[in-house]
Amino acid sequence: MTQNRRIVLAARPEGAVRPEHFRLETQPLPAVPDGHLLVRNRFLSLDPYMRGAMNDRKSYRKPQAIGETMVGGTVGEVVESRHPKFAVGDVVVGGFGWQLYGLSDGGGGLRKVDTSKVPMQAWLGPAGMPGVTAWVGLNRIIAPKAGETVVVSAASGAVGSVVGQLAKAQGCRVVGVAGGAAKCGLVVDAYGFDACVDYKAGRLEADLAAATPDGIDGYFENVGGAVLDAVLGRMNAFGRIAVCGLIAGYNDEPIPVQRFNSVLLNRLRIQGFIVSEVPDAWPPALAELAAKVADGSLKYRETIAHGLDAAPAAFIGLLRGENLGKQLVALD
Ligand code: NDP
Repeated sequence: MTQNRRIVLAARPEGAVRPEHFRLETQPLPAVPDGHLLVRNRFLSLDPYMRGAMNDRKSYRKPQAIGETMVGGTVGEVVESRHPKFAVGDVVVGGFGWQLYGLSDGGGGLRKVDTSKVPMQAWLGPAGMPGVTAWVGLNRIIAPKAGETVVVSAASGAVGSVVGQLAKAQGCRVVGVAGGAAKCGLVVDAYGFDACVDYKAGRLEADLAAATPDGIDGYFENVGGAVLDAVLGRMNAFGRIAVCGLIAGYNDEPIPVQRFNSVLLNRLRIQGFIVSEVPDAWPPALAELAAKVADGSLKYRETIAHGLDAAPAAFIGLLRGENLGKQLVALD
């Protein structure tokens, strides 16, 4: 008999996440009541926000419950439907979490996607939540003008790579910051950034200065810590900073900021945002991003782990920067 397999949060991490914080469980498949559908998930998206959800503290989202399926975005096929709007074979993006099957009443943001021109898993990456995140932070907060310099941290990743390509298409000078020569090579050669600073090379301040001769007008922040400080030191008057993520601090490391005075000296505007709280941006962003994925003008990379059992190690790797591009799990 077919069974569902899922990964639950077994314990809350203090500091770094380890395999023992997760537990694999097997369950019978749920019955499908009237008005519901059953989805066989094919890809699971692993995202940095999941680290925050593992904590039990004040945040913009409620904590992941102990013993419950780990939260997460998924894409898969409808395998049984008693819902008028969904048919067997439809491909749907949902939030079924770290498990093979998901039962839905059609709500909770479940939506059909067209995989004729955009591959199924890209709806979790450049044509999905990470892409929309890039679009919102760039267009709604940084709002760059042609000729301005935009810097992006975690530039080789799912969000950062899209930010840079969108900014470049708007005529900006685009500089990425990423960890290691391989990631920086990808950022310049595949994604077309003008330059990339390897923050692990030990010359962050000097290399950032060399890459931003006219200063920085817009900064898309994914990381925090030393990179943020170096950027603050090069911001131009009336610069804008979109605070999207602070991954350097997700394992509870402190992320001190030394150059906060730049905010006043340069009359900066700094705004944090959560993409799920900007619903009006999703339709135009998804339309633009999916079209660019379909015509090949938006480049992206994926790191794919195979099998649900591989999800914890892949997630731990993501938090260590081991992924190249969007981290996915193929639920083979
Ligand atoms: P990525 O694909 O970029 O993967 C995470 C990357 O972060 C790693 O590859 C690594 O790149 C970098 N990183 C990991 N640990 C550290 C560390 N300790 N210090 C510095 N860099 C680190 O992830 P996403 O593109 O999915 O997410 C990027 C950011 O966007 C995250 O901060 C995430 O939380 C945020 N986000 C926010 C959303 C919102 O609504 N506000 C929605 C979606 C994402 P490298 O090796 O280059 O350092």
